[in-house]
Amino acid sequence: MTEKLAILGGPKSVLSDPGDIFTWPIITDEIEAAVLRVLRDGTMSGLDVTREFEAGFAAWHQMTYALGHNTGTAALQGAMYGVGVGRGDEIICPSITYWASCMPVYALGGTVVFADIDPDSLCIDPNDIEHRITERTKAIVVVHYVAMPADMDAIMAIANRHNIKVIEDVSHAHGALYKGRMTGTIGHAAAFSLMSGKSFACGEAGMLLTNDREIHERAIAFGHYARHGELTFADLESGAGLPWGGHKYRMHQLSAAVGLEQLKLYPDQMAEIDQAMRYFWELLDDVPGIAPHQPPPDSGTTMGGWYAATGHYRSEQLGGLSVARFAAAVVDEGSKCFPGCNRALHLHPVFNDTDIYRQGRPTRIANLPDGVDIRQPAGSLPVSEGIQARVFRLPWFRRYRPKLIEEHAAAYRKVAESYADLLSDDTETADDGRWGLTAAPRRERG
Ligand SMILES: *Cc1c(COP(=O)(O)O)cnc(C)c1O
Repeated sequence: MTEKLAILGGPKSVLSDPGDIFTWPIITDEIEAAVLRVLRDGTMSGLDVTREFEAGFAAWHQMTYALGHNTGTAALQGAMYGVGVGRGDEIICPSITYWASCMPVYALGGTVVFADIDPDSLCIDPNDIEHRITERTKAIVVVHYVAMPADMDAIMAIANRHNIKVIEDVSHAHGALYKGRMTGTIGHAAAFSLMSGKSFACGEAGMLLTNDREIHERAIAFGHYARHGELTFADLESGAGLPWGGHKYRMHQLSAAVGLEQLKLYPDQMAEIDQAMRYFWELLDDVPGIAPHQPPPDSGTTMGGWYAATGHYRSEQLGGLSVARFAAAVVDEGSKCFPGCNRALHLHPVFNDTDIYRQGRPTRIANLPDGVDIRQPAGSLPVSEGIQARVFRLPWFRRYRPKLIEEHAAAYRKVAESYADLLSDDTETADDGRWGLTAAPRRERG
């Protein structure tokens, strides 16, 4: 007999103090010293530490060019400009992601066509890309969503067939492997957010990675005027001295100093997180209603730092219990559980009606030929629109502390096994998810 659920007045499952198990980022004495050094040198706006960080980041990925940016959003825009996206061009991007995967295309005069996601990987569905390619399509943005590497082999084959570029958004999957290859090394360019909530946490920062000298130099021309001396392509050199995008995207050297230290710390941290998360799911192997979002063992594909660790929710195995009610019960047991994930971007007004640049037409279609309307109404991307009721965020353990992990797993087991006690009072409607994954959750109990 399991005990009464805490949400119904029973005892909690998690009694131990979490201690440092969720503390992130982990700030060491070495990080503090590195930041102090930059402060005391007065080189916050310099480039020397950033160049060192770029070299280390490139070496970690065995790539040729790394370009530090002040945010991941800026790195994504640099990548888009780098691969040649311009006015009237289209990119294809999954609807389930953080907005920065696609929104910077607007400022280039381009627009976005959304593809649906695969309900298991939660990444762009390779079978929903090709029919969306037009003569205007310049690039596919692939997001390794909540740490799961996307199906890059299938996506690269499509891109190569149509001679379009692939940009990897690696903001959720630092250090993850896809069939033995590092995410961020497979497409034509890759952009990483390195802000503090991400697995590889530097502060506010982003990185652009590529082996293509022209992509690298175009990104320099666009947002790094102070480095125009590095330009070698004649057409770029001819406009050197002022940034082509009017943007100043240089990385802050306090962030670069943190990043240099993180390069040393992250591999071990990633291994510990992986051990902890896999242990959590092993403990729940036989529990109905919930399933891990993780690649098969021995596939050569890994979750890296398990950013925003997510689980699949199967309400049909729990008598139709809503994920919101399930999550509320887990939280009352003393664990962590947030229903849903990002909302489907194609349903937001800025991708439908908003006229950002006062062109007299919605920005989404403002630079397309007359009569071309690529907007995607409700109902057009069914997996993306329904996934919020089918997933939840679980405790993201940064340390391997078996006893504590066992208490959290016990909370999930207890709720799943006692689901019938929750059905009569299930007045929760499925959560719509969040527009920005890193925003504070709307509800946190316990
Ligand atoms: C965080 C994030 C970004 C943007 O990065 P910032 O550093 O916050 O600008 C881009 N794409 C995805 C998928 C993200 O999660």
